[in-house]
Amino acid sequence: MTKGRVSTERGIADLADEYDVIVVGAGPAGLSAATTLAGTNARTLLVDENRTPGGQIYRAITLAQPVDRQRLGEDYWRGRSIAEDFLRSEAEYAPATTAWSIQPLQGDAGQTIGHEVGLSSNGVARLIQARQVVLATGALERPFPIPGWTLPGVMTAGAAQIALKTSGLVPSGKVVIAGTGPLLYLLAAQLIEAGATVSAVLDTTPRENWLRAFRHARGFLVSPYLAKGLKLLQTVQRRTRVIRWVSALAAEGEGGLKEVVWGAGGREHRMAADLLLLHQGVVPNVNFSNSAGCAHEWDEAQLTFRPQVDEWSASSVAGLALAGDGTGIGGAEAAAIQGRIAGLGCASRLGLVAPAERDRLAVPLRTSLARAMRGRRFLDELYRPAKAFRVPQDPDTIVCRCEEISAGQIRASVSAGAGGPNQMKVFLRCGMGPCQGRLCGLTVTELIADERSKHPSEIGYYRLRFPIKPLRLHELAALPQTETAKVAVLADLADTHHPADLNERKPQ
Ligand SMILES: Cc1cc2nc3c(=O)[nH]c(=O)nc-3n(C[C@H](O)[C@H](O)[C@H](O)COP(=O)(O)OP(=O)(O)OC[C@H]3O[C@@H](n4cnc5c(N)ncnc54)[C@H](O)[C@@H]3O)c2cc1C
Repeated sequence: MTKGRVSTERGIADLADEYDVIVVGAGPAGLSAATTLAGTNARTLLVDENRTPGGQIYRAITLAQPVDRQRLGEDYWRGRSIAEDFLRSEAEYAPATTAWSIQPLQGDAGQTIGHEVGLSSNGVARLIQARQVVLATGALERPFPIPGWTLPGVMTAGAAQIALKTSGLVPSGKVVIAGTGPLLYLLAAQLIEAGATVSAVLDTTPRENWLRAFRHARGFLVSPYLAKGLKLLQTVQRRTRVIRWVSALAAEGEGGLKEVVWGAGGREHRMAADLLLLHQGVVPNVNFSNSAGCAHEWDEAQLTFRPQVDEWSASSVAGLALAGDGTGIGGAEAAAIQGRIAGLGCASRLGLVAPAERDRLAVPLRTSLARAMRGRRFLDELYRPAKAFRVPQDPDTIVCRCEEISAGQIRASVSAGAGGPNQMKVFLRCGMGPCQGRLCGLTVTELIADERSKHPSEIGYYRLRFPIKPLRLHELAALPQTETAKVAVLADLADTHHPADLNERKPQ
């Protein structure tokens, strides 16, 4: 793997067997954590499933051309220096590499002395050890289950942004953008700037959110979000129709999207469309932290589960730190600072930075973090998605896209005794498809809570298992078999078979 410049030429076979730290995720949080760690002489490996560093916001930033600065904005361009600092560092970088598992390594006294991380790239899997791991796996778009959202021609706004940033793809035909959140207007502005025909923005932000948000206006008024938000609103309002107070939404068409149907002002409206882009905010991507056994809690302001971390971003699992939007949505600037704090925390646990020095270096970072978080509460309250768009009322609306399970089926299985998301898996295979619940987890929790008249925190989330991303069987089979793994499998077989059966299974 490379130090400095990015190379995708060499496979993961070139990686060492052990590092001081493995960082997963090359967004602002992971890049900053890895750069900080490399600066303390920690042997650091950064892995990311993307081919270039940047994560969501700074996606493909190292390949971006000056024209992208105009199209995608100054905030996007800011990622260039974060990526360049990392590429100049001594950290090793494994792009196009997916992390799919993390298992604790135990010392003689049973204490956790590190972790073994499962990685896969180009059809080859490896298990690599690290004394510390930082997960900086970012956010996901919140599910937006409306009738017809599985039709061809309906996708998430984030997916359209990925196509724009990575390949310069601009959607053709009539585009409608619907939902809520600051990214909705950012994406509308980016697409309009790139030449897309945006017929309308359907804003689903509930009217009453303005009152709730107003209580937190002070932080917002002194934050950079105010000026940025106003500029985006002006750009979008000048160049397309913005329809507010949308309270119902559906995509219609035979075999593909033909019309977007919405309710506003007590009436139903329709508009022909070739592409409907949906977005109602982002939530922490908890799949990895959940599978690793980290403690999570319900965040009422952001309506999501998030992992618990201490002031150095350490999780409840020894040797495992979490940074960035994966711990709660704070935005790119906050993610980069959290990455540096997590890096200092890890370096200190490795004995590479004395606690007093760590504390001293963290002081300005904590001040900057508090500044970067100003206005966040206002945004959370203002862009809190309406219940109608989080908990589908139409029983036919698909919730689990992988297994094609509808809201009605989920409600019926609650009545039949499925009390939580994990029992739901047994009843319906809900959340057991390739996405491992990423696209339905929160909807399932909130639907069950609604049906049982309970709070989502009482319902809980899926208990996820490794591998968290699809892994080919041949990759798994080709992994070196440790003694512990052999004993585990043989003991399992011995429990269920007579020893003679085992002998029969030996190849002749
Ligand atoms: C679709 C989408 C688009 C967004 N666009 C913007 C925007 O334009 N402007 C803005 O201000 N904010 C945007 N955000 C919010 C934004 O993600 C952040 O505030 C910021 O990028 C968070 O930084 P991060 O480092 O925590 O995570 P991210 O930047 O999300 O980086 C996480 C990285 O982890 C990698 N990863 C995840 N799981 C694995 C795994 N198992 N193995 C290997 N790699 C893995 C991902 O490939 C990704 O590169 C967007 C969010 C989403 C979900």
